[in-house]
Amino acid sequence: MQLRIALLLLAVPQVQRYLEVNAPRVILEHVDVIDGTGTPPERDRNIQIEGGKIARISAGGDEPAQSGTAVLDLRGRSVLPGIVGMHEHLFCLVRPHLSAHSSFEGPAMFQQMTYSAPRLYLAMGVTTLRTAGGVEPATDVKLQRAIEAGDLPGPHIDVTGPYLDGPGNANLQIRALDGPEDARQTVAYWADRGVTSFKAYTGITREEMRAAVEEAHRRGLKVTGHLCSVTYPEAVQAGIDNLEHGFSANTQLDPGKQPDKCSESRGDYTLEHMPPGSAEANRLIALLVGRHVAITSTLPGAGSRVLPKALPPAALSAMSPSLRDSYLYSRNRAVDQASLDRDARMLRIEMDLERAFVAAGGLLIAGADPVGVGGVLPGFGDHREIELLVDAGFTPLQSIRIATLNGAIYLGRQDRIGSVAVGKNADLMVVKGDPSARISDIENVEIVFKDGAGYDPAKLLESVTGHYCQY
Ligand SMILES: [Zn+2]
Repeated sequence: MQLRIALLLLAVPQVQRYLEVNAPRVILEHVDVIDGTGTPPERDRNIQIEGGKIARISAGGDEPAQSGTAVLDLRGRSVLPGIVGMHEHLFCLVRPHLSAHSSFEGPAMFQQMTYSAPRLYLAMGVTTLRTAGGVEPATDVKLQRAIEAGDLPGPHIDVTGPYLDGPGNANLQIRALDGPEDARQTVAYWADRGVTSFKAYTGITREEMRAAVEEAHRRGLKVTGHLCSVTYPEAVQAGIDNLEHGFSANTQLDPGKQPDKCSESRGDYTLEHMPPGSAEANRLIALLVGRHVAITSTLPGAGSRVLPKALPPAALSAMSPSLRDSYLYSRNRAVDQASLDRDARMLRIEMDLERAFVAAGGLLIAGADPVGVGGVLPGFGDHREIELLVDAGFTPLQSIRIATLNGAIYLGRQDRIGSVAVGKNADLMVVKGDPSARISDIENVEIVFKDGAGYDPAKLLESVTGHYCQY
């Protein structure tokens, strides 16, 4: 009986209070449409939303007021597809007794952010995300279902299972597999319980990866990896679908690399010795493209050191006091110029390889990898990723496509999400300004539509003030 009461309390819908627009029919008047395909914006259009879908896109005009229809005059605004974030997290990294000099007492922990993270994503226009590794997959699945049921605000979520890792990881929340059969069973167990994606981690063996991939593929699910012990070509051989952190976790050229063991350089050496245009780079890119392996760009982490940008005030406000302290410590710490120069060189190679990969026909997708470190937060970090893709040399329209339609293509959902087109889900972000001309305008999110319901970013942000990295 008591349990039933608790469940009823949980089921009180909390979505209503965050809605700004909620009508059977919505018309967005006089907007510029950046449709997510990479084509130039269409100026002054009306978008009609009905039944959660985009029902019509027509020339801009003034619609007569009708009952049951919300009409929004959005002159000066752009409408984009909701962001499809492909390397996202629902936890925050906490380091006990972190000092201003960045020392802390272990163990570091991944703290679940089931309350604040989904709200931050949605507020910033992320309407679909894939977690790229989780520590409480059962919680994440239940959250995903509560969001789908309309009980909690948040984006559509593809939940990734527990990190598939080998021994040697100091993180106590990451379990070590003990062989290929364990890998297969772990995938089967979590796939049976609502997990729709898997991620191999830095200590997995080739045989474990092969077993995990086989089991996932048998179920129509995909596997990605943040690798080290397995090189990129080996992962391609094992049938992996996607590689995280661009080209920076490939260890194929690392000195002293032992099979199935992470190397000391953790891929840094390989990246430095694989400049774009080199024979090694060309061979790897051809292999990835030929085997349809997607690459996930996660630039904000390195970008926060090499190309720092002041955080939006709203991001600072969302941080818990202790996260804000640790962010300000790290921002104010004296930099070692030599290591910063090296980071800058590596980031440039990474960015150039991502462009070469796309030029060769590869599917580049994007994510923020937000765990609080370096001021990278859910949602805000996704905007930063798009801006850094522009720094990488993509046009603003290409960068927007990478963060929207490309993710939808990877998920096999491009008929429903990822671009602004008639018949697709009304998962949209309305921003002030024109991100096709000035990419930082992507930060000016005014309304976020998910399945046709318009959320107020200010209300979502207000609900998490001071709580990101707390709960
Ligand atoms: Zn990550």
